Amino acid sequence: MTTPFTPPEKKLVTLIPGDGVGPECVRAAQRIIEAVGANVRWEERQAGASVFRQGIASGVPQDTIESIRRTRVALKGPLETPVGFGEKSANVTLRKLFETYGNIRPVRELPGVATPYSGRGIDLVVVRENVEDLYAGIEHMQTPGVAQCLKLISSKGCEKIVRLAFELALAEGRTRVHCATKSNIMKLTEGTLKRTFEKVSREYPGIEAQHIIIDNCAHQLVKKPEQFEVIVTTNMNGDIISDLTSALVGGLGFAPSANIGNEVAIFEAVHGSAPKYADKNVINPTAVVQSAVMMLRHLGEFEAAAKIEHAILVTLEDGKVRTGDVVGYDKGASTSAFTEAIIANLGRRSGRYQVRAYKPIALPKIDPAPDFVKAKDRRVVGIDIFIESSLSPEELGKSLEHLAAETATKLKMISNRGTKVYPTTGAMTDCVDHWRCRFILPDPKGDLDDLAIFGLLQRVASQHRWMHLEKLPEFDGETGFTRAQGED
Ligand code: NAP
Repeated sequence: MTTPFTPPEKKLVTLIPGDGVGPECVRAAQRIIEAVGANVRWEERQAGASVFRQGIASGVPQDTIESIRRTRVALKGPLETPVGFGEKSANVTLRKLFETYGNIRPVRELPGVATPYSGRGIDLVVVRENVEDLYAGIEHMQTPGVAQCLKLISSKGCEKIVRLAFELALAEGRTRVHCATKSNIMKLTEGTLKRTFEKVSREYPGIEAQHIIIDNCAHQLVKKPEQFEVIVTTNMNGDIISDLTSALVGGLGFAPSANIGNEVAIFEAVHGSAPKYADKNVINPTAVVQSAVMMLRHLGEFEAAAKIEHAILVTLEDGKVRTGDVVGYDKGASTSAFTEAIIANLGRRSGRYQVRAYKPIALPKIDPAPDFVKAKDRRVVGIDIFIESSLSPEELGKSLEHLAAETATKLKMISNRGTKVYPTTGAMTDCVDHWRCRFILPDPKGDLDDLAIFGLLQRVASQHRWMHLEKLPEFDGETGFTRAQGED
């Protein structure tokens, strides 16, 4: 007796149509996935503008969060954060809620989409750190006229994103990874990514690893983009260069992305809700369809993914049905006609354009301990007190020297917007009322304790308005702070 065939259980995916052009693009992807017969079923949930309007301040309702927690995979359209309905973007909320620390943004040259780069074979992936950096969104007004945004970069976050980039290269058969940072200026934050990259790259001897300064990376991307295969970078840098890379291959209509975490993955186009095209049936759905292809590979549906990717290539190569962003909106095919063309081409293969062989990405598993990096030895060598004052550098310097006279520390220098202004160096700094006042222990082996800090702070506060403190640490003999411009 033969065992009756039981079809494999379909993989459940949370489907979020999103705002503006989102529903049109997401429905196109849904139709194509159903037509290819992929092993997927949907659980539809809401997020974005309509949810903000219901008064849910995060833009993401609890049943959407619960659905993603259960399915672990989401395909979403773009979400708007309407003015006056909440401060935080619902997109960023979703990325952070599920610790999707890696934003993978591939672009490749496409047939029938003419750009100044056509024929050069662009095929690269930006791997953007997705939850840290300036996007931690920790901002403060320090004085009425000076704002601060904290750029937080952790060794753990860098280790995860760098390993993800190398593992992605292995899974996609790529041989070169660039790390793009601004470590020449931000030696501690951006420098952490560079140092982590240099350390981790030794574990991947088969992959060429190269560091590049982010501004030169932007320059090289415009000049010779075909030299890049994978670029790993911090959140802000990645945000900017991935829009640039999408323009190299025809624009946001062709730029997919995956937000990858160790538990959850969320797939979406790079583009937003493009409100001027909403409900007009003219938008190019390719970026969302390509994001769905990435999702199918994540789910292990490699055959269905390759079939859809080939069908996109064939449709573009045939060039009979092209959307308005490629040929002009007066001449472009409708979103639904383009979707039908892709469906009709399922099963066909492009002769000239190849589809890569993919393997599952081995997601990095690293020590979950919050104190991922431990110091054996640590001390505090001084303190920066940030003061709001309209005094001149000379007046402020003299006053602080006097106040510190009977404490364990002495005033080393004052800087304004990063440049040392006291003792004077002759710099022509255009000073504002925000001063970083650096007090250090004269004893080079000393350790400044909290009691001494409170004592100093009390004396400073008796005459000045302070708003911020930073301890000056040393971990295992390494200085844990930078000098001001002009400080010796
Ligand atoms: P956008 O929606 O990405 O649109 C900017 C421009 O990009 C469009 O005007 C259009 O250019 C082009 N474009 C976008 N999608 C396209 C597609 N599928 N095919 C062809 N061209 C496309 O950016 P935005 O106008 O700055 O943002 C609108 C809203 O989306 C905002 O509320 C923003 O916060 C949100 N947003 C959401 C996400 C997300 O959910 N992940 C991402 C970005 C923005 P042309 O005008 O040249 O035709």
